[in-house]
Amino acid sequence: MRLILLILLIAIGSCGWLDIAQARPGGGHSSSSSSSSHSSSGSGFSWGSHSGSNTSGFSSGSSNSEEITHPMSSLLALVIVIIIVVAIVIVLKNMSRSQTFVVMPTLENRSRQQLGVAQQLTLLKQSDANFSGILFLDFVHSLYSKFYSYSTHPEFSYLSPFLSVDLQQHFQQNAPWQINEVVINGIKWLEYTKQGTEMESLSVHIDANYTLHLQGKHTRYAVQERWQFLRQQGVLSAEPEKMQTLCCPHCGAPAHFTDAGSCEYCGKQVQKGGMQWYLGKRVVLSTTALSSNELVAYAQEQGTQLSTIKQLDLSEQMQRFQELHAYGDWPAFWQSFETEIVRAYFLTIYQHWSQRNWQAARHLLSDRLYEANVFWQNLYAEHDWYNRLDNLQIERVVLVKIETDKYYEAITVRIFAACNDYTEDAQGKLLGGNKKELRHYSEYWTLVRRAGIVQHSKPYSLSQCPQCGAPADNMGQTAECGYCGSKISTGQFSWVLFLITQDEVYEG
Ligand SMILES: [Zn+2]
Ligand SMILES: [Zn+2]
Repeated sequence: MRLILLILLIAIGSCGWLDIAQARPGGGHSSSSSSSSHSSSGSGFSWGSHSGSNTSGFSSGSSNSEEITHPMSSLLALVIVIIIVVAIVIVLKNMSRSQTFVVMPTLENRSRQQLGVAQQLTLLKQSDANFSGILFLDFVHSLYSKFYSYSTHPEFSYLSPFLSVDLQQHFQQNAPWQINEVVINGIKWLEYTKQGTEMESLSVHIDANYTLHLQGKHTRYAVQERWQFLRQQGVLSAEPEKMQTLCCPHCGAPAHFTDAGSCEYCGKQVQKGGMQWYLGKRVVLSTTALSSNELVAYAQEQGTQLSTIKQLDLSEQMQRFQELHAYGDWPAFWQSFETEIVRAYFLTIYQHWSQRNWQAARHLLSDRLYEANVFWQNLYAEHDWYNRLDNLQIERVVLVKIETDKYYEAITVRIFAACNDYTEDAQGKLLGGNKKELRHYSEYWTLVRRAGIVQHSKPYSLSQCPQCGAPADNMGQTAECGYCGSKISTGQFSWVLFLITQDEVYEG
């Protein structure tokens, strides 16, 4: 079930791995795994064992063929034939299902589950007034990326305060493989609970892709994981600067720790869970090797017809937000927010996407969203292809959620839009999609900014730095303004787009 997406299967160079890109930023590469019918149990590898030399685990296919050459009884042969037939039937069924209909969680189920998590997070905020969902997600994102990109490198020990003792030993150092191009497509809240009288835990579901390099071969994987974070009860969350990068919770220096967990700068020993969350447990729910296929196929748009999921106490939140900022009049605030922020950002960001000039949108995006999509933009660039979104028009913007915490405020809207969505090469040859037919779709956009920002008295241009007003043409990869040096992507000076969620997966 993917979005509008064009499920673009791109052959990467000669190494033979293909990837499934999406059309539109945030369009959901994750669908790559759900739309393909491969099951994780059949392909891919397992991280289950961390000891010994499990490099063979990365090529699971070969071990099966070895077994077949062994002498075997006719009974065993029969069993194997039955298994193969059943597997083929399952694969065929899945294939036909993915083409004909889509199973979606009901609106009721989705909102019931999220209501439960929302109540749990409210409880958490009662004991930790510094807790910010936005900042926690940033922390998870940093740790997830480094967990894999450092996996077989000596730098893995830098993560020691943020990993359980078991997980510190998880990867074999100097193993003959490495991972990079880690992209997180989505993080979903699962559960907040107290663990006995001392610890508390917060679990999330992570949907990601990464590339594994082994003996000159590159394989792109789609993974679903459940990560459980732990810390001591009663701990207050760190300030934003210490949540947005992995750093020493004592001195704030970049995370350089010894195996024993001492900071190389201030020398203090960091006790796991004493000041910051650490990863207590991780479960890999599925790992799917993305298959090769030279098709450029557009999947049917899903979820556009689903009813809009609104926060239950939205009107109270609107009231609160209005009082907080002393906006005398909600419609006046809303009109300027919808026009100058939502609509302007939407059109500008997609224009840059379509022109394959993602860097030009850098100052409008959170680090997470920028990085996730720069990967796909690079793939398009490698082939010199363009994902065009012509005649883009916004049909409707609906307010669905307002969240405020000590450090951030977030507004989520559902945007209904339409465009001619297609992919072409640099010579204008159509590779997928449709140049003539308008494609209607909707997405949930979450925009965030730091709490306490005063609204600009006059609207600023999206091509300017919101801090100094200089042209936003020198933002670098990290969104630090080349003129005034301010980091823009944390929402410190103005709204940034934090998250795009497809309508069929949005849960509130
Ligand atoms: Zn330190
Ligand atoms: Zn500036």
